[in-house]
Amino acid sequence: MGGESRVARGEKSLDLAGRVRPSLASFEPYDPAFAPCRVNLSANENTHEMPAEYAGALRAALAATPLNRYPDPMANALRDALAERHGVSRGNIVVGNGGDEVLFNLLMAFGGPGRTLVTCPPDFSEYALFAQMTETPHVAVPRDAEDFSVDADALVAAASDAALVILTSPNNPTGDLLDHAVLRRLLDETDALVLVDEAYVEFAPEGTSVVGLVAAEPRLVVLRTLSKAFGLAGVRAGYLVADPSVVDVLGAVRQIYSVDVLAQAAALAAVTHRGALAPVVADVVSERERLSAGLSALPGVRTWPSAGNFVLVRVAGAHRVWERLRDEHSVLVRDFSSAPGLEGCLRISVGTREENDVLLDALATLLREEA
Ligand SMILES: *Cc1c(COP(=O)(O)O)cnc(C)c1O
Repeated sequence: MGGESRVARGEKSLDLAGRVRPSLASFEPYDPAFAPCRVNLSANENTHEMPAEYAGALRAALAATPLNRYPDPMANALRDALAERHGVSRGNIVVGNGGDEVLFNLLMAFGGPGRTLVTCPPDFSEYALFAQMTETPHVAVPRDAEDFSVDADALVAAASDAALVILTSPNNPTGDLLDHAVLRRLLDETDALVLVDEAYVEFAPEGTSVVGLVAAEPRLVVLRTLSKAFGLAGVRAGYLVADPSVVDVLGAVRQIYSVDVLAQAAALAAVTHRGALAPVVADVVSERERLSAGLSALPGVRTWPSAGNFVLVRVAGAHRVWERLRDEHSVLVRDFSSAPGLEGCLRISVGTREENDVLLDALATLLREEA
């Protein structure tokens, strides 16, 4: 085939879509259609300007990285820095192309036909998506419709013959924390592998993380990412802290070069200079409380307490409110109003003080007009 050959789509009436593996046939490309907006509070990114020390270290690391060599497949320098961060060994860390890759690989390795995944929705939609992709049977133990609490007895019962349980702390999009007693019960009363997704844990109160339990609990796996507090969503770096036997399995089944040299360099610089980030994280937390109070004060707006960098709200006419925020105020938030268990809900990421004020003003104006 030379460069001249051109085959227009559909020219021959081959039903290629019909040849797709049946379990994958219903999937559609993920395109959140991020409309370009003046203020984007839709994806829980860190929108703060980064401290000079941190930003400078990242820039220098990227500039010093040769691009002609393949990456270290296991990202050992980064693993060592992460191991030091958590007081574990290199053998307890596996790095991926974002937390998403390690989540997918965990389901690919420990899920699959006949091995059930248990989750507590509403939660991160990728759990269900990746379960479906890997043909992993999925049992949902829905949270309380009012306060989003987890039904511990129902969860333990569902987990009793499950391969894998995923819990999220703080949970996205509800913002609540995992009760450590529930985790204790899962580890003591079931034989399942338990993943605690701590993507947002840097914004939560001290003592929230269960990463310290990994050394004593080989069935506990903790997920972390550099996409949220570290402000590196575009870099794609996430990891698991787990027993070396889990790390070895995931090291064996991953795409070998999925974490590229630039991602490894940026992540290593970020982890090494993480001390400089503390004021940013503290500001996000204080802005979350201010935003939350401002939202609760608006007529007809319900909020839930959040330990993440986002606030879930329920408001009448949520979809229309979301659309008007985008179209008339150039403010983008996340519309969950048609997601099961999240009727009327929007998720608002915590931005800078200025961004949060734009959102609060826009929403106040809009709700006055809608009243
Ligand atoms: C953002 C997020 C992740 C991981 O995101 P990556 O960008 O792929 O690292 C994992 N879990 C939850 C709940 C998240 O919100």
